[in-house]
Amino acid sequence: MGTNSPSHLRILTVDLEDWFHLIDYGGSADVEGWHRYPSRIQENTAFLLDCFREAGVKATFFSLGWVARNHPGLIQDILREGHEIGSHSDVHEMVRKQSPSGFRSDLRASIRTIEDASGQPVRFFRAPGFSITPECLWAFDILLEEGITCDCSVFPGSHAHGGFAQMVPGGPVRLRVSAGVLHELPVTTRGIGGTQMAFGGGGYFRLLPGALIRYWTQRSPYLMTYFHPRDFDPSQPVLPGLPATRRFKSYVGLARSRSKLKSLLAMGGFCTVSAAHDRIDWERVPMIETLAGTESR
Ligand SMILES: [Zn+2]
Repeated sequence: MGTNSPSHLRILTVDLEDWFHLIDYGGSADVEGWHRYPSRIQENTAFLLDCFREAGVKATFFSLGWVARNHPGLIQDILREGHEIGSHSDVHEMVRKQSPSGFRSDLRASIRTIEDASGQPVRFFRAPGFSITPECLWAFDILLEEGITCDCSVFPGSHAHGGFAQMVPGGPVRLRVSAGVLHELPVTTRGIGGTQMAFGGGGYFRLLPGALIRYWTQRSPYLMTYFHPRDFDPSQPVLPGLPATRRFKSYVGLARSRSKLKSLLAMGGFCTVSAAHDRIDWERVPMIETLAGTESR
C-alpha cells in the first residue's frame, strides 16, 4: 500500500490471556475458578500466528504466568514463529490494587514461569488494564529491580482500570526512578472531545471504523498496539453477570475485527518491542525526572 515508512514506529503486541480474563470482573476474580471455563486461547492465538505469518510481521506477546503454566506448548508455538515473549503479570491483578510486595512477588512468579516455558529471559512488561497509575509509582522501581528494561504499561489518559492522565501522549519516554532509568513505550492514544482513545487494540479497535484506525495509524509516527486473542473470537461465550456497559465494551465489533487486523497489518512496518527498542535513540528520548508531578517532558 506504499505506506511503509522508516519514520513510522509501529509496535505489534498481544496480551496473551484467555477470553475469561476480563479485569475487575467478579466472576473471573478467583484464580482457582478459571479452570471451570473452557479454554479458547490455543485456537485464538493460532489465528493471530497465521495472520502475522501471512503479513510477514513479528510481535511481542505479553503472557500471563498463568497462561505459560497451563499452556507451555503455546509459548513454544509463539517462539517457533520468531515472536518474543514478555510478562503480563502472573494472575492478571491490577497493579494499583496490589501492595509493593504483592506486586513484586506476582511479577517474580510470572517471570520464573515464563522463563521456564520459553528458556529466554523476560525483559518486557505490560500491566493488566494499564493499571500503573500515579498512585503506584513504586511499580516502576520494582520492574527495573526485577530485570525489566522496557515497560509498556502506561496509558496516557484516563482509563477504566488505570491510566496516567498527566503523561503527554505521543511516543517513548524515559522514567527516572530510584533504581535507575526505565524505558517506557506507552500505548498510543488519540483524543476526541477530551477522551483519549487507544485505537490500536482492545475495545477501541473493535468499536472504531477500520478506515479511521488506518487514517490515525498513517498519521501517527509512533503506534503501540495491544491486541488480545479474544478480540478476534466472535464465537466466545458471554460471561454471566456483566453490567451492560462492560458487556458492550467486551464484545462489540467481534465480527469484523479479523478483517480489520489484516487491513491494518497490510500497511506494513510493524515490529516487536525489542526491534523498536533497538531502533530508538534513547539518549534523545524525553526524560521524566519527577514522576510525582508528571508534566516535565
Ligand atoms: Zn490483560
